[in-house]
Amino acid sequence: MEVIVADNAGFCFGVKRAIKMADETLGSAQGSVKSLGSLIHNPQVVNSFRARGLEVVADVDSVAPDDTVIIRSHGVGPEVKQSATDRRLRVVDTTCPFVTKAQQYAAKLIADGYKVVMIGDKSHPEVIGVVAYTNNQAIVIDTVEEAERLKFIPRMGVVFQTTHSIGHVQEVVGALLKRGKEVRVFNTLCGATTSMQKTAIELSGEVEAMVIVGGRQSANTAQLTEVCRKVNPRVWQIESAEEIDERWFRDIGRVGVSAGASTPDDVIAEVVERLTRINGTESEARR
Ligand code: SF4
Repeated sequence: MEVIVADNAGFCFGVKRAIKMADETLGSAQGSVKSLGSLIHNPQVVNSFRARGLEVVADVDSVAPDDTVIIRSHGVGPEVKQSATDRRLRVVDTTCPFVTKAQQYAAKLIADGYKVVMIGDKSHPEVIGVVAYTNNQAIVIDTVEEAERLKFIPRMGVVFQTTHSIGHVQEVVGALLKRGKEVRVFNTLCGATTSMQKTAIELSGEVEAMVIVGGRQSANTAQLTEVCRKVNPRVWQIESAEEIDERWFRDIGRVGVSAGASTPDDVIAEVVERLTRINGTESEARR
């Protein structure tokens, strides 16, 4: 079976940056180091950091004064940062610059008198953090139906969860335009996710099936799977090579592979290696 790996598959700039910062912190910190939530949404990476002593905690109250707390790439609200400062914690902030921008736009919109609407998953940590920058005043919606149910908002400011697909936010913004008089939209989609989705969508149209690799908790992996399924119904999302079932590929000669922004290269390589051995002959994977 021929295996083709999409360009831009795997680690994005923000995840690489967060991992590098966490790595350096573990190498230099005096006391213990805690991560506020899983550093990234990938179990293999989280386990490898745990083995080196990085403990995941749910809140800053679980970190002892003078110890180090890592804020992950999804970011946190201002009250969490203040609480860490009040407790005299050493803070290493790995918030992705794309997420910081979304936080700043949300804060500006609320300060300028707009009612903020965020298009995103209300339970995702990035969204919770951005909403906190609006004093928790923002409305979070994620579907056209939810947009259509909103009461009329005279001055509406809109931001997006960074990893959403452009097609999805275009649809929801279209519905929001009917619910507001002045609608100010900041495009807070992250460039890395947009490029990753674009190349994966193109590849989905050229192969018989797609395999998307990434953590089950990873929002951008879920989005990647969703956008590929719109082009090709035969898409499987897996966390690791062990989950591959050879029966999926009985009648398939060409499969595409892409991976979420928090998927390490070695996990992608294992998946590709396993796929190339399916259907009798070994064949080269190409990117
Ligand atoms: S997916 Fe985008 S927003 Fe999220 S960490 Fe990566 S670069 Fe940053």
